[in-house]
Amino acid sequence: MLRSSFLYLSRQARLRRWAETAALARRMSRRFVAGETLAEALDAARRVAAQGLVVTLDHLGENVTDEFEARADAAEAGQALRELAAAGLEPNVSIKLTQFGLDLGEAVCRQNVCQLAGQAAEIGGFVRIDMESSAYTDRTLAIVSDLYRSHHTVGAVIQAYLRRSDRDTERLSEEGIRIRLCKGAYLESPSVAFEKKAEVDESFLRLMRYLLVHGTYPAIATHDERMIAATREFASREGIAPNRFEFQMLYGIQRELQRQLVADGYRVRLYVPYGVAWYPYFMRRLAERPANLLFLARSVLK
Ligand SMILES: Cc1cc2nc3c(=O)[nH]c(=O)nc-3n(C[C@H](O)[C@H](O)[C@H](O)COP(=O)(O)OP(=O)(O)OC[C@H]3O[C@@H](n4cnc5c(N)ncnc54)[C@H](O)[C@@H]3O)c2cc1C
Repeated sequence: MLRSSFLYLSRQARLRRWAETAALARRMSRRFVAGETLAEALDAARRVAAQGLVVTLDHLGENVTDEFEARADAAEAGQALRELAAAGLEPNVSIKLTQFGLDLGEAVCRQNVCQLAGQAAEIGGFVRIDMESSAYTDRTLAIVSDLYRSHHTVGAVIQAYLRRSDRDTERLSEEGIRIRLCKGAYLESPSVAFEKKAEVDESFLRLMRYLLVHGTYPAIATHDERMIAATREFASREGIAPNRFEFQMLYGIQRELQRQLVADGYRVRLYVPYGVAWYPYFMRRLAERPANLLFLARSVLK
């Protein structure tokens, strides 16, 4: 109930306009967002690298309705790749296709993302195409597959809560496309997504096992200690070396667990979001754990 309320609020444009400019709300967003500028995100990336983690930078934005803005967002992602490389860090960004103009038409979006994939290829970088709500799944996967034929520098995301994910995972893996596996963060109808946590977890475990055996350098993206323990156990039972996959977590969540995994010899990538358009991302983080709201309110009041 609380989860769906936060996810409903995450799509309210007026609340978004207010929150992204209100000083108190902006301070609260800092729990999950590295800053508003690329320079701040790079500082966070350097701090994270000093602890033995790698990063993927996400310049926040989604459902862009203006072609100029979509092009500017694509340029920003290219800049982030180049500055990561210049700082001696792995050039790796995560993007959303609706940020690159998917709501304006596929042609605009394809042009923007193809240009970015080309820039990534020039510097040995990587572009992860985040997965948004199920209204975009078919189009997103089609674009990733098409792009992958010319640029091996792009990867996809599979959401374990979607009933279709076994099929998609098999198809993408056969094509050799790198997959990030996550549980899924959007409000979906029971006709397309599992509702119960136990069903989502079961799907996550099944997909994790498939990816570790058949996938191309999969990313297991979760903060769930049970999912992480099961991944470690399965990999060691099957003789899958820790350098054949990576764990991924979000900036500001489960820091101790991140450190522990690095200490135990696993690769951990932190998803570091930055930018002024933080509201929908922030609300999805509250939806995952509504207790965060109380925690944040208390720390801001202090
Ligand atoms: C690197 C990365 C990339 C992602 N990319 C996408 C994407 O492209 N598309 C998409 O739909 N979703 C994406 N997600 C979000 C994902 O789908 C889940 O919504 C999110 O990770 C929470 O699920 P969980 O696996 O951590 O497990 P849960 O069962 O939700 O949580 C397990 C435990 O983790 C901790 N935890 C989880 N979330 C939070 C939080 N917000 N605040 C504090 N503690 C928390 C709590 O201790 C909780 O008990 C991504 C997640 C990660 C880590």
